[in-house]
Amino acid sequence: MEAIIITVGTEILMGELIDTNSSFLANELPSLGISLKKTVSVGDRMSDITEEIDTALRSADVVMLTGGLGPTSDDLTRESVAEFCGEEMSLDPEQLTILEEVFRNRGQTTMPKTNLKQAFVIPSASVLSNPNGTAPGWFVKKAGKCIIAMPGPPSELQAMWKSQVCPRLRDMTKDVVYISRNIKTFGMSEGAIDEMLGHLFGKDNPFLGIYSKQDGIHLRIIAHANSVKKAQSLIDPLDMEIHKSLNSSVWGYGEDTPAQILVNELKAQKRNLVVTEGFTKGIICSFLSEAPGASEIFNGGFIPGLNATEPAAEFFTSHDGNENSPIHIKVSNEATASASQNSLEEISIHVSVGDLSDISVVSVRNQSLRVRQRTANQAMLIALKVLRTLD
Ligand code: ATP
Ligand code: MG
Repeated sequence: MEAIIITVGTEILMGELIDTNSSFLANELPSLGISLKKTVSVGDRMSDITEEIDTALRSADVVMLTGGLGPTSDDLTRESVAEFCGEEMSLDPEQLTILEEVFRNRGQTTMPKTNLKQAFVIPSASVLSNPNGTAPGWFVKKAGKCIIAMPGPPSELQAMWKSQVCPRLRDMTKDVVYISRNIKTFGMSEGAIDEMLGHLFGKDNPFLGIYSKQDGIHLRIIAHANSVKKAQSLIDPLDMEIHKSLNSSVWGYGEDTPAQILVNELKAQKRNLVVTEGFTKGIICSFLSEAPGASEIFNGGFIPGLNATEPAAEFFTSHDGNENSPIHIKVSNEATASASQNSLEEISIHVSVGDLSDISVVSVRNQSLRVRQRTANQAMLIALKVLRTLD
């Protein structure tokens, strides 16, 4: 099943409002087995909204609209859907009672006349109630297609989506199961992976995507079938082939984080960890703080100031249970202060454990938080690679 999202609002076209509703819905659709063809934004003009619905339904099965369900004269989504369907709107007494109740609960004895239009429906629409606001949504089934109109305010949209739209769509798509698997790699460039696995890209089912992220290159496999088992069986061989080709570059799956995988490896190897964070300035420690079990292997971290002397090993508390020699990750301070803002600087990451020592050099574009977070992840993944050679 394919969908198109139309967000309604001149505010969006004027650049005054960032459209977060599209990203919310886009994120929800894959688990329902609905593939999103595109998102469109349109102003508060009836002819424009109707035209977009018409265009969208020529190529998609489901159109989702957000916004324009309010009481004011510039809220025209309801009218546009009615116009597209060629149906008359009429007052729904049940909706009117609900609306009047909302106003009574707000301490207003009379409902403003403008709100009356929110109680109007067309015959093909079933009403989606809005517990967080006044604007009810519409779920319209027409000629084998589906038009869903939801309110613009994100809290209202999200509540309505979860309680009413999602269950209805799940019912319509229950014979198709979509499954995705995310394989996380580090140490190879996107280009090198693309060259190596080129023959696996460009297929529909299973689909393989490649994405550059903070913690390396991710490969995402998506497959669909009429059962979980069948979808799984489409993913498994591809996963194995990727694993065989990329070998030790694969460090994790799904929700794995470098910090968590590093903690798990250290616990398994009974080793402690000490961190000296020049360039990353505490980010590795911060990431470790979110990894369950880190307190069992983490001895401490040090952020060197200018000309600071590093404390001796005894300074850091040791965990008695971990009898193997500890690992020390040391990220160098930022490179020359004279380097101009956009030039690449080099940061060295020194990992030492027992007699083994590894120095890697990574290039950084600037010293922004994002770049330092990426470097922190790189440092942990380099440490993981070193540890895995000891296994
Ligand atoms: P209302 O009853 O509040 O008028 P509505 O359904 O008519 O609701 P709009 O008038 O289009 O919705 O938008 C109301 C508010 O909802 C906007 O001012 C904005 O704060 C938020 N909003 C609307 N569309 C979006 C969007 N696509 N992404 C994020 N926020 C949005
Ligand atoms: Mg409005």
